[in-house]
Amino acid sequence: MAAAIDAGVGKVRRPELSNKIDVEVSINDAILLTTDDGVLTALDDRTLRIWLRRQTGKYWPSVCYTLDSAPTALSYHETSHRLFCGCDSGLIHEFLVADDFNKITLQCTYLGHQSRIHALYFASRSELLLSVCREKKFNWFSTNPADEKHQYIQGSYTLTSWGMSITMDETSRQCFIGDSNGIIHFLKIDTDNKCQLNTTLNGHTGSVQNLLWDADSEWLFSGSFDTSVVVWDVGTHQGLAVELNGHLDRLVGISYDNLRKLLITCSADGHIGVWPMNVKRNETPKWLENDSCQICQMPFFWNLRAMWTQKQIGLRQHHCRKCGRAVCDKCSQTRKALPLLGYETIQRICNDCMQTLKNDETVPLASFYDIRQGTIRMDYNQGKKVMMTVGTDRTIKIWDMSSVV
Ligand SMILES: [Zn+2]
Ligand SMILES: [Zn+2]
Repeated sequence: MAAAIDAGVGKVRRPELSNKIDVEVSINDAILLTTDDGVLTALDDRTLRIWLRRQTGKYWPSVCYTLDSAPTALSYHETSHRLFCGCDSGLIHEFLVADDFNKITLQCTYLGHQSRIHALYFASRSELLLSVCREKKFNWFSTNPADEKHQYIQGSYTLTSWGMSITMDETSRQCFIGDSNGIIHFLKIDTDNKCQLNTTLNGHTGSVQNLLWDADSEWLFSGSFDTSVVVWDVGTHQGLAVELNGHLDRLVGISYDNLRKLLITCSADGHIGVWPMNVKRNETPKWLENDSCQICQMPFFWNLRAMWTQKQIGLRQHHCRKCGRAVCDKCSQTRKALPLLGYETIQRICNDCMQTLKNDETVPLASFYDIRQGTIRMDYNQGKKVMMTVGTDRTIKIWDMSSVV
């Protein structure tokens, strides 16, 4: 008799903690350096610090730069060593980071915002710096020192609520701005610095905390406080948006490993999701509304006339996650995950859909890991398969991800 051999026996696949930095100050933003073993931090004690891993294996600050106001958002371009740092006061400073990471030098201060900077994006090829802040403004600056008055705003767009996240497709100069109401604004900045609103993308019910653009696939990933991630297929121009549901808490970090086609996600409760993106998922169906169950025809509780004529007690309306129909509880007794529709946790399925459900429709695609740390930020380096998480306990943890990606 042939024995089944499990190749994974004895080896538990999970992120392995490889290092920890006790920062002891609230961390507003942090970036994992890909070239050296280092971390850039924006701290609430008004310092910018660079932590490098020393021969002892421990991380120690190589730079501690004190600012007039607490740094709140960072953007770093590794090739040019240009570091942009947005502050609580609304100022944005540009630094040049020394090759050995032992020194940073102030180059320029950009003026334009009057309140806390929430996110920055530096587009090196177009020499543009994008910023959003607490005053519902999206501003952009020229980062080319040859441009006259380049430290002043080149253009501005007023949002309907706080801007929380930004990303950009540099080739087409399309910018994506996520706001605190769950809307993504899709704008184009022309070469003469005028902007035009293309559209708004509505798919979230909570603040859009993370935005990520993958230029190869032309996918926009958005992570929200509503616990979902949406993959917007911008490239095909068909308006396809797949919702990924698996986290139970607010999304605080997303990263795309485009070598392995894996999306890495992190929620505030310290759960890490790893989602294969080389799978064809479908959009979730729209929820239908009806006055009675679309299977057994029993009236819902607001359908008073039918309740009276049929002498029935009104029922609560539920929705089947597979077909979207409005059904009663009795007609939707099954609970299953539907990973091909982006649902990795169990969902309500109607009795009709259950009849036709195939086994492969319920097999999990994503993997989830509990790192047991309340988390406010995550960064990931695909070259080294290393993840960084920033904890609510003022520590930064470095994780070896080689067994999960
Ligand atoms: Zn029913
Ligand atoms: Zn159904």
